[in-house]
Amino acid sequence: MIYKASESRYEKMQYRRSGKSGILLPVISLGLWHNFGSVDRMENMREMLTFAFDQGITHFDLANNYGPVPGSAEENFGRFLAYEFKHYRDEMIISTKAGYGMWPGPYGEWGSKKYLVASLDQSLKRMGLDYVDIFYSHRPDPDTPLEETMAALDLIVRQGKALYVGISNYTAEQTQRAESILHEMGTPCLIHQPRYSILDRWAEDGLLNVLDKRGVGCIAFSPLAQGLLTSRYLDEIPADSRIAKPHGFLQKEALTEDRQSALRKLNEIAQMRGQTLSQMAIAWLLRDTRITSVLLGASSVNQLKENLEALRNYSFSAEELELIDKTSKP
Ligand code: NDP
Repeated sequence: MIYKASESRYEKMQYRRSGKSGILLPVISLGLWHNFGSVDRMENMREMLTFAFDQGITHFDLANNYGPVPGSAEENFGRFLAYEFKHYRDEMIISTKAGYGMWPGPYGEWGSKKYLVASLDQSLKRMGLDYVDIFYSHRPDPDTPLEETMAALDLIVRQGKALYVGISNYTAEQTQRAESILHEMGTPCLIHQPRYSILDRWAEDGLLNVLDKRGVGCIAFSPLAQGLLTSRYLDEIPADSRIAKPHGFLQKEALTEDRQSALRKLNEIAQMRGQTLSQMAIAWLLRDTRITSVLLGASSVNQLKENLEALRNYSFSAEELELIDKTSKP
């Protein structure tokens, strides 16, 4: 039976403006880095995507290399776009990126105009789209002039292949420069995508202030530290978890005894707030209005269901924040 989106999909979600732009993003977005590749189950993907959309999650984040195999997340997503979401394209914000290794040779990664333009063309074909809503430079390239990388983003917008552009994993200083170059070319930087969670605070060291000052949005990736900030690893490593999977990016070494004991303490703080650990980790990010959206991953609808409940409470007392800092900061 063809999918029909829930009539009440916009009643539950909250939306925040991405910097000083016209774009509102859902405070929770869904990323397709894991669990949408050729090794994963199509039916599970379908359930997660349609459930997410029914809850008002309008933003889906991809990259050229998401899989495994690289490219397969875009291909799979393209199948759902052609069928389930055929009538909903204008209600969706779809992003993709280029920056990491995608094909052999000197033009298959980093930040040259040659690579970025070719990669986006490939992504559009895989997804069966004429344009994406947001195209990112996935990482700064130390060997390509920033002017060239930003000129590629500007060109892509002028060609109509992306409506907006963003940058990911750029430092505060690189972000300032990139934003200025884009601004001068008349193609504003819509958004930055940094890794940011209770366990990973580098964005607090200047980046968030730069984004706020320059009117650039911020979408935080790996907000649950790839699953560490959930109930998954409080006791042991479950067989179906990202750590246990051979192709996952989260390694056993990330779960040291100290880390596990910190996670247990954080879990107690969450329980005192009447939340699960993942709900508190999401709420903790959303309490800061500089965060436009929290970019979650999920391997099941149940995880998404649990995580969406975070929206019920994202205010924290000063004591709670202090306790979280004490428990999580090295
Ligand atoms: P998260 O930190 O949200 O981790 C998601 C994982 O946590 C899930 O796959 C699942 O793992 C586990 N999880 C989620 N909810 C629960 C729950 N309620 N209970 C138990 N376990 C849970 O994000 P990701 O690391 O997946 O990153 C999210 C997105 O960010 C990516 O899909 C991508 O779009 C983007 N990203 C961008 C990068 C960049 O360089 N720009 C780099 C990395 C990510 P499990 O499989 O164990 O169930």
